[in-house]
Amino acid sequence: MFTHRVGDGVDFAVSENIETLHGFSTRIGGVSTLSGRESMNLGYDRGDDPDCVAENYRRFVSAVTGGRYGPERIARADQIHSDTVRYAGAPGKYEPCDGFWTDVPGVILTVRVADCAPVLLYDKEAGICAALHAGWRSTVLGIAEKGVEAIVSHGGKASRIRAAVGPCIHVCCFEVKEDFVKDVEKLRGTDFSERHLLKRDGRLFADIAAMNTELLEGCGLLRENISISTDCTRCMDTLYFSHRALGVRRGSMCAAIAL
Ligand SMILES: [Zn+2]
Repeated sequence: MFTHRVGDGVDFAVSENIETLHGFSTRIGGVSTLSGRESMNLGYDRGDDPDCVAENYRRFVSAVTGGRYGPERIARADQIHSDTVRYAGAPGKYEPCDGFWTDVPGVILTVRVADCAPVLLYDKEAGICAALHAGWRSTVLGIAEKGVEAIVSHGGKASRIRAAVGPCIHVCCFEVKEDFVKDVEKLRGTDFSERHLLKRDGRLFADIAAMNTELLEGCGLLRENISISTDCTRCMDTLYFSHRALGVRRGSMCAAIAL
């Protein structure tokens, strides 16, 4: 189950099943003033004043970690809609990728989203966590599987991993075109495509939260260990940044996790 917390005016969501420092940012509590980016924009690539983004990170990290860590503890990278998951043994900016995993306490893994699904993974006993940016392309390529593989191949156990699929665009709003269907079928087969692409009034809608859930279960995660936010970023575009609702002049949210 997801709940919202507010720390120093910063509103962020947490998933109760993830028993380590983590949070999913919202639009609330930052200092950005540009249209579509107000106020908690956490993307340096959104045309926003970098000083504002830096201050937003300071506030977000402080809120999520209860003041324990600052933004100098963050691991981040430019995102490329791939299935590349990198090991982050230290904070810093990494080569482009769409996910991180770590076994080092105090390294804050971050991914940025605005309709794409942020997925956090945590194996408490192994002491490993991961953060994934699962847009439709990374989802279908199998970034959720890559994240689980990274944890399992370093001492984790799939049946122990807790997963949280944060606020993203849901099947109510994620309309897709035929070329999308072809890509999904090519990578995952027609059964997968039919299960997660729903027809409504002659239009097609994709369910990326359900896709990621199925892939996680396919890796051996237990359904009861997967928590999915029911918040749709497009339906709730005053609380969340939504690329579909706001277009390119929009901010980015951040999902963060640390041991
Ligand atoms: Zn919606």
